[in-house]
Amino acid sequence: MENITYILGNKLYINLTNKCPCNCTFCIRNNGDGAYGSDSLWLDHDPSEDEAINALKAHDLDSFEEIIYCGYGEPTEALEVLLATGKYIKSVSSTPVRINTNGLSDLINKKPTAHLFKGAIDIMSISLNAPTEAEYNAVTRPSFDNAFQAMQDFAVECKKHLPEVLMTVVDVIPKEQIELSKELTKKLGVTLRIREYAD
Ligand code: SF4
Repeated sequence: MENITYILGNKLYINLTNKCPCNCTFCIRNNGDGAYGSDSLWLDHDPSEDEAINALKAHDLDSFEEIIYCGYGEPTEALEVLLATGKYIKSVSSTPVRINTNGLSDLINKKPTAHLFKGAIDIMSISLNAPTEAEYNAVTRPSFDNAFQAMQDFAVECKKHLPEVLMTVVDVIPKEQIELSKELTKKLGVTLRIREYAD
């Protein structure tokens, strides 16, 4: 399997699954076969732990600025492989490890999961997308009824176990939504990152 990892700039990305309980209006899966110039990220099957670790062994992990779980799907859909590979990376490299996630791991895995990432992940980056439930549901289109609240609860729980927890929005949403996102993340006690929108 050649598309488990891909490189953009000086960062290594890990693509573990194409599964996701959301159907975001902006999802790059709907807009072509690659991510920002990479090859196709469609997988013929979710990689096993051995397949994923072998893919990581093909790289000098210390040579990257950051290693990021992010692909054509939600990384926490492949929780066991994610945790095993995260621990493997931490055992051989000091490069920071981040997950870009929709924050719905507890709903996906039907159990509390935030504590499991300790020792495998340094940075949990959660896509907030929108600061109210109605706007969030309209943009993210989750298959769970309580996704907006569950995402917030997950963020708060992650703070207890991980060095850094971020929530992200893109810079093209209306100014009022940016302000509401600042208020929400302040209330939750996590950092808001306003990302540049990549078309
Ligand atoms: S959460 Fe990510 S992978 Fe899932 S639909 Fe939204 S953008 Fe796509």
